[in-house]
Amino acid sequence: MNPKIARFLAQVPATPCLVLDVDRVEENFRALRKALPLAQIYYAVKANPAAPILDRLVGLGSSFDAASFEEVQSCLDAGASPDSISFGNTIKKVSAIARAYEKGVSMFAFDSEEELEKLARHAPGSRVYCRILVENEGADWPLSRKFGTTIESARDLMVRAGEMGLDPFGLSFHVGSQQTTTSSYEAAISKVGMLFTDLRDAGINLRMLNLGGGFPVRYRDDVPSIDDFGIAIMHAMTKCFGNALPDMLIEPGRFIVADAGVVCAEVVLVSRRDKNDDTRWVYLDIGRFGGLAETEGESIKYRITTPHDGGEVGRVAIAGPTCDGADIMYEKANYRLPLALTSGDRIELHATGAYVTTYASQRFNGFAPLEEHYV
Ligand SMILES: *Cc1c(COP(=O)(O)O)cnc(C)c1O
Repeated sequence: MNPKIARFLAQVPATPCLVLDVDRVEENFRALRKALPLAQIYYAVKANPAAPILDRLVGLGSSFDAASFEEVQSCLDAGASPDSISFGNTIKKVSAIARAYEKGVSMFAFDSEEELEKLARHAPGSRVYCRILVENEGADWPLSRKFGTTIESARDLMVRAGEMGLDPFGLSFHVGSQQTTTSSYEAAISKVGMLFTDLRDAGINLRMLNLGGGFPVRYRDDVPSIDDFGIAIMHAMTKCFGNALPDMLIEPGRFIVADAGVVCAEVVLVSRRDKNDDTRWVYLDIGRFGGLAETEGESIKYRITTPHDGGEVGRVAIAGPTCDGADIMYEKANYRLPLALTSGDRIELHATGAYVTTYASQRFNGFAPLEEHYV
């Protein structure tokens, strides 16, 4: 384990808690910048909006992708300049658009005509980019069909944007979160690349391609390195645009923060449904409602360590502490934990720095939310 986090956990903080090493956030940011030096990094704030993370990233020259006005405000509070913030959610309340515009934010995402009309009225003259629907195959946490539009309708919408007095600035896509294949980016780049040419013929010169997030981290299984993604992306960009590359943006969330954090939890109970059952049920003091929402469908499989590692192991199902039948993290994912594991043991769930703290419910069943420590 990361020595800074280990030192903090040695003081036996109350559980459940997240301990996150902000230096590791910086290392991840630098590794990504090195892998894709031509891309400007817009950190996806929703992955973990904690002030120590935003402060550090502002210092490193990061830009930010905000999902709400509240996230815009958090970035401004951390010292980010308004022109380093992209309002990347394609579903924005009019009041949120107006407030962000008033604060000086001038780049907005959209994927529909109605959103474009809202932007033209409440953020006039802004730079807008259209999100294209792309395949999410290979992603452990796909973003499905909720966002994006087709190439054909994006073409019409970008022409409309210009007519409405907005600046039709670029295009974006998101290949799905925890995307484990580099080819997904290559396919998406060649799909949207053709639209650049098409729109140039229609008199619109796009200047920006936003490649979204999705860059994976190691949970239980290995994933390609960030350099592999950088190489594949630059290869596809060069193939598509030659040396007339547009500005490149990336919006990593998970990659920047996930492996900087460890959740420490207490085992509340170990039981068997029947004394001959070879599966033990392990109940923790954190579950689906305490922040581990990405265990839905057993999609994200966190690596777990215990004080008994090295001893004999057996099959387990792992669940949270609430009186809710949906509060089960893993039943089918073939987790095996030491037979010596017992109530009162403290265990660690690794790479939990992204999409955990903010997914925690508000005192469901009365349990206090996850404590957060930034070291
Ligand atoms: C959530 C999100 C991201 C971050 O995705 P990761 O998979 O965490 O890198 C980036 N861009 C947009 C528009 C998002 O909604």
